[in-house]
Amino acid sequence: MWHSKRRLLRGLFWVLALCVGAFWQPVVTAQDTAVSSTLTILPGDTWTALAYRYGQDVQAVNPQLNRQRQPTIGREILLPPDSAERQGVLLRTGDGGLLETAVRQNTSPWAIARQNDLPSPYRPLLYQPLFLPGGDAPPKDLPAGFETLELSQTIGEPGVALGWRSEVAETAVISATLDDAPFVVVGDGRFRVGLIGTGAFYGSGEPSLNLQVGDAPLWSQPWRFEDRADWVYQELSYTGAAAEITQDDIDAERARLRKVWSQVTPKPLWTAPFTLPINDYLSITSTFGDRRSVNGGPYNRYHEGVDFSAYGGTPVLAPAAGQVVVAEELKVRGGAVILDHGLGLHSGYYHLSQVLVEPGQKVSPGDVLGAVGTTGLSTGNHLHWDFLVGTTWVDAQAWLAQDMACWIRAGLGLDCAPVSDNPS
Ligand SMILES: [Zn+2]
Repeated sequence: MWHSKRRLLRGLFWVLALCVGAFWQPVVTAQDTAVSSTLTILPGDTWTALAYRYGQDVQAVNPQLNRQRQPTIGREILLPPDSAERQGVLLRTGDGGLLETAVRQNTSPWAIARQNDLPSPYRPLLYQPLFLPGGDAPPKDLPAGFETLELSQTIGEPGVALGWRSEVAETAVISATLDDAPFVVVGDGRFRVGLIGTGAFYGSGEPSLNLQVGDAPLWSQPWRFEDRADWVYQELSYTGAAAEITQDDIDAERARLRKVWSQVTPKPLWTAPFTLPINDYLSITSTFGDRRSVNGGPYNRYHEGVDFSAYGGTPVLAPAAGQVVVAEELKVRGGAVILDHGLGLHSGYYHLSQVLVEPGQKVSPGDVLGAVGTTGLSTGNHLHWDFLVGTTWVDAQAWLAQDMACWIRAGLGLDCAPVSDNPS
């Protein structure tokens, strides 16, 4: 009795809901069209691309933005009211003119000329944008020869590994910078990836993502960076043997290792997501980027890795496949192992009581590299794990969390095996 009453009520509810829905929907739609919507800028959403995409002057409804500069990747802009999106492709080619482009695109040069208000299909194009309507994606204004361009993060975060990946014309020779800092550019054929790290002091801003294909004009778009608000501040004091290590020792060791870190093996040596380099640890006592004051000095340095406190002798494991490039006792880092993972990526394992690999040795995920200790500039048993893109330290924990390893492999057209660390 009670159940059937409840069913009746539920039925009534749905009838009412459907009625309300039927009347409500047109009202919502009318409201939506009256209010301007917003768009988050992605790579290739230049003023030119937006003008073709919406058939309107998108700059006019965003007077607060600098018209001389491209809209910033990661920023929200307003769209004109009633703006309808058009699909199509924007091409920029330096040679061949319309005839060749039309043949490549399987269309008529006169149709393209008409769509782009070009007086003649015979003039060279010299990288001017060419709109070809159709397809199922909005037009993007990408560097010459780029078919796609994706970023690992729409809003850049300081201190982490960042990348772009794209499919390009096979012959493209690409260089890339973030402001003046070069990306490590890897891949050949259709798939290309650029990798970079910023320091943990990089802060917020709008650096330029610059891409150059051969001798085509430089392609450039600002990229929004937002600093983290939750950096940790630590005061350290070194006593005993650790206090004997001087800034000169630190600089000399760093200069030597910089030569190791600047080597780029052109292929990725890993084939699966990275894992933690230690299974049995007590706690993470310091994370990447922790601001540090030493012996009461200013907070003018930061922690370059992740510290795992663990019992002495705990095995330290390879987090992914790679090749051992350093395996020795260093003054500052103590017992040290550095792995080359390919593509300019290196990881380091320091303060080890024992080093159990040899330089040149190839390692597989989970192979034992050494044992936790407190050698070098260290105040207790722990593993210091660092990770570098080129010669810049990046957050190894973020590298794991973002699964950059597989993002990069996918960008190179390679698959990435899933982790099966729990076979039971
Ligand atoms: Zn450390």
